[in-house]
Parts: sequence; structure tokens; C-alpha cells
Amino acid sequence: MRGWSIFNRLAKLKVPTLALIHGHCLGGGLELALACKYRLVIDQANTILALPEVRLGIFPGWGGMKRLPELIGPPKALDMMLTGRNIRAKQAVRLGLADALVPERLAKQAAAHHVLSGKAVHKAKGLNAWLNKVPLKHLVERQTLKTINKKDPYHHYLAPRAIVDIWARHDGNPLKSPDTIHQITSSETARHLIRVFHLQERLKSFAKRTTKDPLTHVHIIGAGVMGGDIAALCASKGIKVTLQDQDRERIAQAQGRARKLFQRKLRDPRLVQQAFDRLIPDEKGIAIPQADLVLEAISENVHAKQQLYALVEPQLKTGAVLATNTSSIPLEALRKALMRPDRLIGIHFFNPVAQMPLVEIVETHDIDPEVRDTAMAFCEQISKLPLPVSDTPGFLVNAILAPYMLEAMRCIDEGMKAEIIDAAMQRFGMPMGPIELIDTVGLDIARDVGVQLSEAAAPALSD
Ligand code: NAD
Repeated sequence: MRGWSIFNRLAKLKVPTLALIHGHCLGGGLELALACKYRLVIDQANTILALPEVRLGIFPGWGGMKRLPELIGPPKALDMMLTGRNIRAKQAVRLGLADALVPERLAKQAAAHHVLSGKAVHKAKGLNAWLNKVPLKHLVERQTLKTINKKDPYHHYLAPRAIVDIWARHDGNPLKSPDTIHQITSSETARHLIRVFHLQERLKSFAKRTTKDPLTHVHIIGAGVMGGDIAALCASKGIKVTLQDQDRERIAQAQGRARKLFQRKLRDPRLVQQAFDRLIPDEKGIAIPQADLVLEAISENVHAKQQLYALVEPQLKTGAVLATNTSSIPLEALRKALMRPDRLIGIHFFNPVAQMPLVEIVETHDIDPEVRDTAMAFCEQISKLPLPVSDTPGFLVNAILAPYMLEAMRCIDEGMKAEIIDAAMQRFGMPMGPIELIDTVGLDIARDVGVQLSEAAAPALSD
């Protein structure tokens, strides 16, 4: 209530008001800026505007639901509020969210000029203005609810529907709908989403705590599904990558996939080309002695990996780290023949690499702390969330996932239909049913993980 009324007082001031936006302007920060008459954004990569409340299961209740649709029109405003997505400086101007883009060194001058200009305050015009009024408003409401129902058919999320309702029926004023406020703030979903947010922040802090310099060169061995995509990710984040594989064709395929990733993520053809130039094919591993980190992602075979390490380890430069992307082989087994077993670490990515935020950092009991630091610095550089786990079967994620998948397969054995199992788990809140998930991972891989875990749990039963 205090946030809502204080921003309303700011909006009603007779004097010109201006928000000069530099860096992140999110949630309540953007609502404060929206209550000003003018907004200028500083032309910098880290200038980002968003109303991300929906991601925490709540809504922008300090005027965002009222002022954003009035400023940029309901379709774009609802999209921003329902996805919580980031808007960059240039895009903010295109949307009408900001009045102008200014270079940092001229920011104060531009602000003073704008405040004194007497320019009319920007508002949504034409169709966008009509869409804010009844009856068109209800048309937008119905269309938006249809999209929400498609994405969330089992009504797990209250906040998106509340945002649409408060905008459509109460002109964006949440105080007119106290029941909704109560429902939202006391909902299990909001509680869990806020918890997930804090957990993610905790993982991010592991990566931030490292004192290591950023890595300049990563060498990846194995250009398959995982190695190829990890190489592309590294190159897209500005790291020089050399990519080795015994099969030249796999490197070429990885380069093809990398170009698509760069085009999707970087867009600007110049940046795409620069990223492509950073990804260097190295069939024979000539670059190993220069790399800060050598990451192995060859086929899941203990002997092949051990043989490879015997060749790689003597070539590593001082301070360089050897890492493996193995998903199921214990590091204890892999490091047996190493001269410095305490310097092997697991950096376990998930598939698809570009989309999965989590990376397991697998540590043995005597890991060299410097090696762990390098792995954390690497995760920070490529914007992944590092989860430290010990070298136990299935690490953490597969140890949780495998029993869940196994139970789903048992249900099939007991005569239940696959579609029914999947539908039940989706109704419970899973984004994908367990049977479809097993099919996506691959039945062979799922079986291998199961065997690994059961062998570790009960060696006597393994044969
Ligand atoms: P893949 O079969 O797609 O690729 C393996 C690549 O390694 C092939 O291109 C092969 O030519 C190359 N290779 C094999 N031996 C080599 C050697 N001695 N020297 C150079 N290149 C060699 O396999 P993948 O799915 O990318 O898996 C790679 C690793 O990542 C495995 O350890 C796997 O357990 C792990 N992993 C896989 C997934 C997944 O979903 N596929 C997920 C997480 C981790």
C-alpha cells in the first residue's frame, strides 16, 4: 500500500520528473522510473529494464500493472509482465518505455535538457490506447488468458492470471483486489519460487567468490553432442576454444551447430564471426600445452578416458586443470593412473548445454582447492550455476532423477499406461512426464545410469 501510494504521489507532482537509468532497473526500480514523466536510458550493455516479479510468483504491485500498459500498450506490457524478460536499452526506446538513449558521458546534460524541454509526456497511442479501454481491453484479456491456459493448463501459477485480472478489472490497482493479494502472498508457488531464486543466488555466489583470473583458453577433447556444444558456449562467451576429436567430421558438425547458436544469441554478424573465429578445430590436440583448462568429453568408457589422460597430463602447462564431463564414471576410477590425481575435477554439464543452467562440479575428497577455484571461475565466465557435489554414484542430479525414472518404469511393468503416468506427473507440476523424459534422454543412457547406480548401491546383486 505504501509503495503504491508513494509512487502515485510522485506521478502526480506538477514539476517535471525524470529517471536516468544506468545498469539494472528491475521490479520496484522500474516502477519508480515509470512514475516519472521522462525516462532516459544510458547506452550500455548492462542497462536492463524488467518487471520480473512473475518469476517469484508475485506481481508488480507498485503501479507497474497500471503504468506500463498505459505507456507502451497492453500487448507489449503484458508480455513483459508475464514473462519477466529483460529489455535492453535500445529496445526500451523502440518500445516507448524510454524517451531516449544517451551516451554515459552526456547523460547529465541530456537529463537537464529533457527536464527543461517541456516535451509532452509519452503515452501509448492509436490502437494501443484503445486496447487499454473497454471493450477492447476484454478482448486482450481473453486472448492473453488463452495463452496462459495453454502454457499452464493445470493452473500451477496464480500470478500471471492475477496480473491480467488486476489490469483488466481494476486498472492495475492491486489494492482493489485484496483477496488476490492475500492468495498470491500466501501461495505455496510464490514460496517455492522465492526459495528457488535464493538457491540460485547461492550457487551464483560460489562462482563469484573465486579469486582466479578469467580463463583465456579452453581445450575440449570430444566434439560430440556435449563437447561440441560446450565449445560453442565458451566461444560465445568470449573464450578462445580449441576443439579436438579423432573424427574430423564431428568437429565440422559441431562448428555448424555453433554458428547457429552464435546467430541466435549474438545476432550481430560481426560478433557472430568473432565468436566463430574463437572456435578453432584442433584434430590432433596441438594446443593442449597452451590451455588453462582441458575438458574431456569423449565417449563414456573408463579405459578410453584413462588412456587419453595418460597422453594429456604430461603436456599440461603449470597451473592448468584437467576436467571431465563424465556423467556416471566415478572420478576415483578415472584418476587412478594420474601423476596428480588431486588435480582432476568433474565439470558435468547437462544436455542441451545452452539451455541447462546447472553444472555439477564433482570433487574428490583431496581435490586441490586451486583446481576447484578454476572450475568455479570457468562457470562464472560462461554464466552457469556451479553445484559442488562429491564423487558419489549419480553425483546429485542423477541420484535424484534415477529413482524417479525407475519408479515410472515400474509402473509400466505393473500395467499402467505411459500416457497416464506422464499426465499425472504433469498435473503434479513437472514440465515433462517421466516416460517422455526417459525417451528424450535415450533408453540406453537411462539404462546405463540405472546400472551404475544399482551396482554402486548393491555390488552383490549387480550380475
Ligand atoms: P558423443 O558420442 O556424442 O561424443 C563423443 C565424441 O568423442 C565423439 O565425437 C568421438 O569421436 C570422440 N572421441 C572418442 N574417443 C576419443 C579420443 N580418444 N580422442 C578424441 N576424440 C574421441 O558423446 P556425448 O554424448 O557428447 O558424451 C560425451 C561425454 O559427456 C560422456 O562422458 C558422457 O557421459 C557425458 N555426458 C553426456 C550427456 C548426454 O546427454 N549426451 C550429458 C552429460 C554428460
